[in-house]
Amino acid sequence: MEEVGTGLLDRLDALQRVAASAPGGPLLIVAGPGTGKTRTLTHRIAYLCAELDVYPEECLAITFTRRAAEELRERLEGLLGPVTEAVTVSTFHALGLSILRENAAAVGLTPKFRIAEEADLLAALDPLSEREARRALAAMEPSTREALAKALRARDMVSLDELLTLSVQLLTESPALVDRYRDRWQWIFVDEYQDVDPVQYDLLRLLCPPGGNLCAIGDPDQAIYSFRGAEVSFFLRFAVDFSTPDIDARVVRLTRNYRSSAPILAAAVQAIAPTTLVPGRRLDPARLDLEAPMVGLYPAMSVADEADFVVRTVDELVGGLSHRSHDNRVDSRAAIGAMSFSDIAVLYRTDAQSAPIVDALSRAGVPVQKRSHDRLLDRPGVAAIARELRFATGLGGSIAARVRLAGQVVAGRCGQLDSDVIGLTEADVWTAVELMTPPALRAGSDLDEFLGALATGAEVDGWDPRADRVTLLTLHASKGLEFPVVFLVGCEDGLLPLRMPGSQGRPGSQGRSEDDIAEERRLFFVGLTRAQDRLFLSHSRTRFRHGSERDMAPTPFLSSIDPGLLERRGPAAPRKPKDRQLRLI
Ligand code: ATP
Ligand code: MG
Repeated sequence: MEEVGTGLLDRLDALQRVAASAPGGPLLIVAGPGTGKTRTLTHRIAYLCAELDVYPEECLAITFTRRAAEELRERLEGLLGPVTEAVTVSTFHALGLSILRENAAAVGLTPKFRIAEEADLLAALDPLSEREARRALAAMEPSTREALAKALRARDMVSLDELLTLSVQLLTESPALVDRYRDRWQWIFVDEYQDVDPVQYDLLRLLCPPGGNLCAIGDPDQAIYSFRGAEVSFFLRFAVDFSTPDIDARVVRLTRNYRSSAPILAAAVQAIAPTTLVPGRRLDPARLDLEAPMVGLYPAMSVADEADFVVRTVDELVGGLSHRSHDNRVDSRAAIGAMSFSDIAVLYRTDAQSAPIVDALSRAGVPVQKRSHDRLLDRPGVAAIARELRFATGLGGSIAARVRLAGQVVAGRCGQLDSDVIGLTEADVWTAVELMTPPALRAGSDLDEFLGALATGAEVDGWDPRADRVTLLTLHASKGLEFPVVFLVGCEDGLLPLRMPGSQGRPGSQGRSEDDIAEERRLFFVGLTRAQDRLFLSHSRTRFRHGSERDMAPTPFLSSIDPGLLERRGPAAPRKPKDRQLRLI
């Protein structure tokens, strides 16, 4: 076994190795972007199992998104092989779901309970009219919450939020249950700990006592979910929360950035400096390529001009769009030494910004794909498919057979029944069903579990990191990813930091609190640090916002960056009709 362990740690740098091989007890890994957090976390789990006789069954790794969980599991499989199956890798919501399934009776549910969809929530608020019910749901006052909980319980349902609140309630009321879970999961790992919210924190505290084997990893400067209730303070007080008089929490910092070129990293560090939550933060470039280009900056005249800048720069990077054949495959000669579309991402603050960029790229023949954080269940038609699948559960047969049956039933009803199925073709249904099935079929688990996975946030956008397409995504959705080339468009005051419609306020304050603005700066930092080799920032002088065309100033965050790191990009060369004629001759 020794050889396996040594080989594992060989792939880490000295600090990563310290973190991965730290003994038990509370461990906080404070690490900036690109310092190998995800790599270190997977190696730590693998090392503990391979070297320290920790049983994979005792390990619980928690992430925020299903996709992150899948990625973690995949990377772990690469290190640990088939025993990875025994490690619990779960999102917070899925963890809540499994705790409730195992103890359904204790909270007034049957083990077959289901997660309420929007229609169920509205129905549960009977006798309110649909409009009143929607308003009550949106406001979600405590009285509504209690009435709703009762009505849902009577229908053998829970809301998505309750997966965690009910789990916490259950464990708080049952010390014996707490002991059982603590015994089962003696080693807990949480990625992106800076984004933990109070309920998730309560659950962790119940599952892991102070002094326990909790490994939390994250970067306070990438905390970008406070609008969802996340509190970075949990990260900052980890050592206080989890140390005991006998056991001090260990803190390891990772400071070597393997992702970005030196100029990109320097610009990012300067951008976050004014509000960094990591005093004395260090982020040293592992890459010291002297020829690395500076950060490109393009002040656009208009949104159309900005989109045009993206198109012509993509054209330069891929070695000329005209070299590409009709089916958008790279002509092999043109690809030599050039970027491919899959290397390129366009990031923006709000989804509304994507349309002009998508249009311009598509018109130029550039294939694009969007990555979003949509829940699969929120997609048109998918709720109906899920309903049919639920119905098919009662019919028996293999999972695959039931899925097929449900697919056929839904497809057969297109345009007749549920309004949310109208417009779905049978092919759409199959795509959805296929996207929904692999994890369930792989685990051979039952359909209920898979429907649960759907309700707890299975995401679908068909995004494929390997596809030969330019990726478009919001700053929030870019978290944790990396691309050789990043465009961050719309670097404008009012968009970044974002000014909400109707907000007033002194100039510079954006009508938002200092905390909000600091979070927007962190979002800017997240964006800059996604780039490996090339980073282009752009802003437009005008933009259509809140119903009218407005003058826009560059984001104040730009002024934190040393102008020496920025290279102003010129406007498009004017087209000379004469040149064209010459070329024709
Ligand atoms: P983020 O905060 O953005 O989520 P992260 O800290 O999770 O970043 P990773 O995605 O794990 O960073 O790693 C960033 C890049 O650095 C990856 O391409 C990874 O393979 C590479 N990397 C990490 N550690 C090393 C190492 N020791 N040697 C070489 N490359 C490394
Ligand atoms: Mg990461």
